[in-house]
Amino acid sequence: MTKRIFQSILLVTLASLAVSLAFFTAILFPYFENRLADELAQELAYLAPGAVSGGSEYLRQAGAGGNRLTLIAPDGSVLFDTTADPAGLENHADRQEVQQALAGQAGRSVRYSKTLDKKTINCALLLSDGNVLRVSSTQYTGFALLLSLIQPMLMVLALTAVLAGLYAYRLSRRLTRPLNEIDLEHPQPSQAPYEELAPLLRRLAHQKRQIKSQMQELQRQQQQFEAITENMQEGFLVLDAAGSVLSHNSGAARLLNLSSPPTGKNALELGLCEEFSQPVRQALSGDHVESLIPLHGRQCQLFANPVFQGDQLAGTVLVLVDVTEQQQREALRREFSANVSHELKTPLTSISGIAEIMRGGLVPPGDVPHFAGKIYDESQRLIQLVQDILRLSQLDEDSVLEKPQPVDLMACLRRAADQLASAARAQNVQLAVRGGSVWIQGVAAILDEMVFNLCENAIKYNRPGGSVELWAGADVRGPVLTVSDTGIGIPPEHHARVFERFYRVDKSHSKEIGGTGLGLSIVKHGAAFHHAQVELESTPGVGTTVRLLFPASAQVPAEPL
Ligand code: ADP
Repeated sequence: MTKRIFQSILLVTLASLAVSLAFFTAILFPYFENRLADELAQELAYLAPGAVSGGSEYLRQAGAGGNRLTLIAPDGSVLFDTTADPAGLENHADRQEVQQALAGQAGRSVRYSKTLDKKTINCALLLSDGNVLRVSSTQYTGFALLLSLIQPMLMVLALTAVLAGLYAYRLSRRLTRPLNEIDLEHPQPSQAPYEELAPLLRRLAHQKRQIKSQMQELQRQQQQFEAITENMQEGFLVLDAAGSVLSHNSGAARLLNLSSPPTGKNALELGLCEEFSQPVRQALSGDHVESLIPLHGRQCQLFANPVFQGDQLAGTVLVLVDVTEQQQREALRREFSANVSHELKTPLTSISGIAEIMRGGLVPPGDVPHFAGKIYDESQRLIQLVQDILRLSQLDEDSVLEKPQPVDLMACLRRAADQLASAARAQNVQLAVRGGSVWIQGVAAILDEMVFNLCENAIKYNRPGGSVELWAGADVRGPVLTVSDTGIGIPPEHHARVFERFYRVDKSHSKEIGGTGLGLSIVKHGAAFHHAQVELESTPGVGTTVRLLFPASAQVPAEPL
């Protein structure tokens, strides 16, 4: 701004100087020239009578120290001159002023020197004796004057430049200080230092308000977007057309196992496996890709969607879905189906074989009860299997039909003990029910099944002369139910797996004694249904204890009898 003010001041000064000079040379110079010519004419008129009467002598005296006087004869020859010897002067008949005077007019002419720096103004008058008297005055021309003015002009210019600089500095400071003091963060049109600035400040204030509301809207959208993506279990990455990560959610960082935020880095350079890079490359070349990739021990479904703006690829959106559990469930389901088919097939084949023999009349009448008994046993096994499968699928799909109600765990133990008393006797196993009443909110049918399965196992996998103890009560953690036996026990390496469907420690033995392989699985799912924990303690050759720990919140007051 100082520069502009300085330039303006200098320009104005120079322009003023130029205008003054032009005025001086263009207007005043001709004016002074005319004035001089008039004065010369007056001088002529004054000298004319003396020149006629006194001749050359008069003119010498009158012209001493003054303008040049020349007396010219009618034929143009110079009779007298105050500055030169007339003999050495050429004939003046061709001089404009002389010709005009001889013609009876006021003779006047201006002649310039060869260097154009001087000019001579001549005025001539026809005297009464026929001669012509001429007065000449020599002075500098406007051009010479201009040339002579260059030096002072340059000095004036230099002085002007210094003064203009100083003035421009002070002026610009005075002008800019209020401008610098404007609070651009909170523009107030009413407090504009110059009224011309008020519209600008008004506009600024308006734009600030607009920007603020747009920023708030953007922030709101950003927060909404982050809230959505952060709460997604799925990983989410947005890449630009070159593959650099523009944004990501914590799901992506978790699934890709990223130690530092990937924003700004190229997705292909994150050090991930080729199974990840390959579909990303494909998406960056414009293809939609879906693929199943292994990521740090988990299985992820990767959806890579290219994003176009018009025909131009603008970037790619990557969505990662952890399908590990889904895959495991699928595998379990397949395994379960295969197991169920197999388990169903065995008794059916047996029943079908016996029926075949009986139809062919190959069974003597005395043996019919035996074979019928076989068919009955296999059918019971089938019924038990189907019931267990149904119960498991109910627990799996959370579609238990019975409503929870207060149940006495001790009553469950007693019912199981009653049902299994003859089996225990047959196995020569002592069955004892201990503890006391403890009521929980639960489904009696499921709890009965769980206790029955545990108690049945405790008898089945016992040794002759062994014992089984069923106990119900409550400790500091909440209601507890335990089934302990002195049976064959479970080797430690099988502890984690005995709760899996169709898992048996000794397959042939278990089948032989009528197990479906689903008993403990029902216990595990039934416990989960009641939010209970299952603890297994077992030592081969010593015995097994299965403990169900119900949450304290499940306990309810005893039902009035
Ligand atoms: P099963 O119908 O074969 O008994 P379960 O699911 O009830 O199936 O039990 C799974 C396996 O765990 C059994 O096959 C058996 O090998 C083992 N098991 C369960 N309970 C006991 C126990 N009390 N003592 C020893 N082994 C047991």
